[in-house]
Amino acid sequence: MGENKGEIIAVSAPSGGGKTTIVKKILEQHPEFIFSVSATTRPKRENETEGKEYFFISEEEFKDKIEEGEFVEWEKFYDYYYGTFKKHIDDNINEGKSVLLEIDVKGALSIKRIYPGSHLVYIMPPSYQELIRRLKNRKTETEEDLNKRIERVKMELSQKDKFDYIIVNENLNKAISETLVLINKILGKEK
Ligand code: 5GP
Repeated sequence: MGENKGEIIAVSAPSGGGKTTIVKKILEQHPEFIFSVSATTRPKRENETEGKEYFFISEEEFKDKIEEGEFVEWEKFYDYYYGTFKKHIDDNINEGKSVLLEIDVKGALSIKRIYPGSHLVYIMPPSYQELIRRLKNRKTETEEDLNKRIERVKMELSQKDKFDYIIVNENLNKAISETLVLINKILGKEK
């Protein structure tokens, strides 16, 4: 981003695209990255820790934060809200630290509008059919939810060309190593 500012890297994928594993690997390899911990109103899952994956807050608190302008972007995703804290990003990049976001496709495009120097990475499922198969396999959704997700996936896929980089996740290990190479390139470490 220049002037000793840190970089902003946002990783997105259509629902079921497998980005969480890739983001975890990036953070393992780059402990210097600051992960942008979003706020959400969705219930905490068993394996999650408050303040690590998300700040879990009530809908009322979330709406207050929208009013107070705390979010650089926010989205309602199915029944829940998700928002990225502006101050967290600004404070870190101003200190020269790079910030990694795991965020939905629309959110990433908002980040690009606000931070034109940010880098958007799109994790692409190998095919639409495969993605639908993965979504169905999760069996966590009702029929109605599943249909909503499929509609959303179509929208998410249609936005991929607006991203700076596309990584095809056909083989997870390959996708991880390609993403790590890409990140080093973004950070200017490529030799
Ligand atoms: P999950 O509930 O599975 O953790 O996340 C659902 C979706 O919300 C994922 O695509 C995730 O990347 C996205 N997400 C997480 N935090 C944010 C955020 O702050 N803003 C936006 N726009 N999406 C987010």
